[in-house]
Amino acid sequence: MKINNEYLQKVYDDTCKKNAHEAEFLQALKEVLETLVPVVEEHPEYQANGLIERLVEPERFIQFRVPWTDDQGGVHVNRGYRVQFNSAIGPYKGGLRLHPSVNSSIIKFLGFEQIFKNSLTGLPMGGGKGGSDFDPKGRSDREIMRFCQSFMTELCKHIGAWTDVPAGDIGVGGREIGFMYGQYKRLRNENTGVLTGKHLSVGGSLVRTEATGYGLLYFVEEMMKVMKNESLAGKKVVISGSGNVAVYATQKAQQLGATVLTASDSSGYVYDEAGIDFDTLYQVKEVEHLRISEYAKRRPSAKFFDDFKGIWSVKCDVALPCATQNEIDGEAAQMLVNNGVMAVGEGANMPTSPEGVAIFQKNGVMFAPAKAANAGGVGVSGLEMSQNSGRTQWSFEDVDNKLKAIMHGIFHNAFETSKKYSFEGDLVAGANIAGFLKVAGAMLWEGISY
Ligand code: NDP
Repeated sequence: MKINNEYLQKVYDDTCKKNAHEAEFLQALKEVLETLVPVVEEHPEYQANGLIERLVEPERFIQFRVPWTDDQGGVHVNRGYRVQFNSAIGPYKGGLRLHPSVNSSIIKFLGFEQIFKNSLTGLPMGGGKGGSDFDPKGRSDREIMRFCQSFMTELCKHIGAWTDVPAGDIGVGGREIGFMYGQYKRLRNENTGVLTGKHLSVGGSLVRTEATGYGLLYFVEEMMKVMKNESLAGKKVVISGSGNVAVYATQKAQQLGATVLTASDSSGYVYDEAGIDFDTLYQVKEVEHLRISEYAKRRPSAKFFDDFKGIWSVKCDVALPCATQNEIDGEAAQMLVNNGVMAVGEGANMPTSPEGVAIFQKNGVMFAPAKAANAGGVGVSGLEMSQNSGRTQWSFEDVDNKLKAIMHGIFHNAFETSKKYSFEGDLVAGANIAGFLKVAGAMLWEGISY
């Protein structure tokens, strides 16, 4: 389908020509450009200043070799990436992903989304993202350490507390951040907050571990209350994934009175008719780092199904995809609708395909898009940067309250913006426009270089 604006369509066509092999990046780009039509019509100065052309081209894209040795002395070479997409409103900020599927398209889609997400938090952070096609599965701690050190040996030349502050994402948790932080410090002789998600004893923030999952639930709860006078209490919830985002989304959903029925990983999903037991999930995934099938072995009320996508056939009131991109396609979305889903909240980045989003919206399902609903992680990363600058540490309660305020603020900003631009209730459009306007204003103010 064509974008209903000649200028935006031309920028999209030109970007497609230059990046024909980057399907995920083009998918994320098209969704944003489609929603910017009324804004570009209202602001002719954007076209006059080539603003959208500049927005879609990363300020810098860094690709590098990551050589490392395994425990037997064998040599491996992976590809490392960092995209520094947009610094109009602050230092580049965005996670690092370690997964064999990582390539330039995945990194650019994530970096592009991050521009708007970071803007929505209200904190001064630009958009960036990075990672490698390294597969951490089955690797020993020492192998992971050597990989992370080699990765940081190159990355450290491009980042800094006032330039670019990476964090975790798929495959990067506290252990990996520690190895990378240690290497940065050795090489640069600097104890700065160059990464977020740090250990509490070296400037990490309380609530950072829980932030994306908790933030997702704060957003969804507010959306349900304001848009349909509903709440999570008593609702049945399907959550995919069993990593950082999914585990803490499960915990907060239960604290808000919902029953979570599922958890998954790339090998399949578990359905627990008695409701997921948080302590067992935590023990299996966060302490012992086992596959999700182990959960079913420890809970008589749970069954394991070796089909990851089958999770969307589980009947629920609320669906929270928290694993990876494009995990809900048109068929899965239709299944959820047929089973009466009332709300969907994206914990993962771009987990719903464009067909899936259209099906939810056509059927009146409340839909919380990733760049708004999962902004809690980067929001608390921003708070970690503030604490580091002030050489201080805030209490759990203090950070949690700030997180809740950020998530409620993002919801209301996206909702009000959707009304202002005649998309009432379409939070995809509302979030895109609200995130964009702040960045666009800064880009105009800062001028065009030469
Ligand atoms: P983790 O690595 O902690 O967990 C990822 C989970 O998703 C695992 O259960 C993993 O299973 C599953 N998964 C990953 N890839 C696939 C796949 N291709 N098919 C099926 N399952 C898959 O990552 P996070 O929880 O940190 O991240 C999950 C999502 O949330 C990502 O989209 C990430 O970008 C997004 N996000 C994360 C934030 C954070 O603060 N961590 C912030 C904002 C967004 P397996 O172990 O089998 O691979």
